[in-house]
Amino acid sequence: MSIACFILKTRSFPTRPIIHGGESSSDNLVLACLKCNRRKGANLTAIDPVDRTVVIIFNPRLQVWGEHFTLVGAYIVGTTPTGRATTALLRLNDEQRVERRQVLILGQRYPPE
Ligand SMILES: [Zn+2]
Repeated sequence: MSIACFILKTRSFPTRPIIHGGESSSDNLVLACLKCNRRKGANLTAIDPVDRTVVIIFNPRLQVWGEHFTLVGAYIVGTTPTGRATTALLRLNDEQRVERRQVLILGQRYPPE
């Protein structure tokens, strides 16, 4: 979810996977980088790494990024169970992503407007 990771090279992917009854209509699509899409797959839930509960992952169509995540330097930090589970599932802070964010921050191209 580019809205979550803010990595470039985005494409449209369904927020509710087709396998779970989602449609390829504009109201079910969200821009996402290929990495996020692959990590999300057909998942609608993930495990919050703090309290180990299963929670519904962040849906950029229905939820506000800033209510579930914050940016600490180049790291995306989940501030709610949903944010933490989504961050872990999508591996938003893997080394390559953090390095890309650092470059974008230095170029004042991150976070996007
Ligand atoms: Zn992404």
